[in-house]
Amino acid sequence: MKCRVCKAPAFIKLPAHNTAFCPQHFQEFFLRQVERTIKKYRMLPPGAKVAVALSGGKDSLVTALVLKLLGYQVWGFFIDLGIEENDFSAASRRAVEEFCSRENLPLEIFSLKEHFHKTISQLALREKKTCALCGVTKRHLMNEYALKIGAYALATGHTLDDMAASLLANLFRWDLHYLSKGLPHLPPEPGFARKIKPLALQGEREILAFAQLHEIKPVEAACPYAREAKFKRYKAALDMLEEKSPGIKRYFYEGYTRHAHRFREETARPPMMSCLVCGFPSVSPICTFCRTWREEEARQRMAKKEPECYNGHKSFEDEVEKCKDG
Ligand SMILES: [Zn+2]
Ligand SMILES: [Zn+2]
Repeated sequence: MKCRVCKAPAFIKLPAHNTAFCPQHFQEFFLRQVERTIKKYRMLPPGAKVAVALSGGKDSLVTALVLKLLGYQVWGFFIDLGIEENDFSAASRRAVEEFCSRENLPLEIFSLKEHFHKTISQLALREKKTCALCGVTKRHLMNEYALKIGAYALATGHTLDDMAASLLANLFRWDLHYLSKGLPHLPPEPGFARKIKPLALQGEREILAFAQLHEIKPVEAACPYAREAKFKRYKAALDMLEEKSPGIKRYFYEGYTRHAHRFREETARPPMMSCLVCGFPSVSPICTFCRTWREEEARQRMAKKEPECYNGHKSFEDEVEKCKDG
């Protein structure tokens, strides 16, 4: 196999694009592809300031590097979840710090332990839904950070494989709300930053190759709480289809982005109010984030509140149980 452009020996073969490239021409191809995705979904104006959520994994680090190379102002944000098992949080933090100092990118680190004197590991001891609460926590803090620095958008490292697998999962469940939210660009709403996924049309192999080309060293430890077995099955099913029909993942997901608006009318959100503690939009008087991390303050605010405002919720604990997705 030879490079399509210069005929040098190929460094990567891309069956989905029916082509192969040497390192230099792959780099150009990859950047051009991401640039096209950004333009196609109108994610960013040229040179915009972007907050990039960095986990330490290759996908988020590649997102940051590509945006930097395309001329955007990248601001990195890392949440130290305080997960000690597998040395997970410390190792992730080191990977992000090394990357940002090498690429000369500003980085803000938010430590749950420093701010709330609690960690995800401690939460996991009493909560079954660790992954759901961790997701709520990350979304809340990333959104707050993007708004604080006045970024045009908040970028995450979701890949084509992630987007196609969650689309498939949501289709199997016919979850209309999530089916309306699977787009690579979600415009801003009051209290919510614009959210973009610049790698939404890029496959795992390309991203891995780009990471290797740039000697990106992602964290190797895995999160001890990750319960992704089901998600991995959807990914495996799509991989199997992709092997037989290269390009099918992209066809599946890109097609969805043209039809996603059809799900929108079906799924009006519950009325939003402002959280009594943090002031961010919430579906209940106190958002799940504040109930989880600012328990004492949340209790005090609820105690002061007029009884009729409880809307029939039995107790504060019931509310915490019920609400997973604040
Ligand atoms: Zn070449
Ligand atoms: Zn809140």
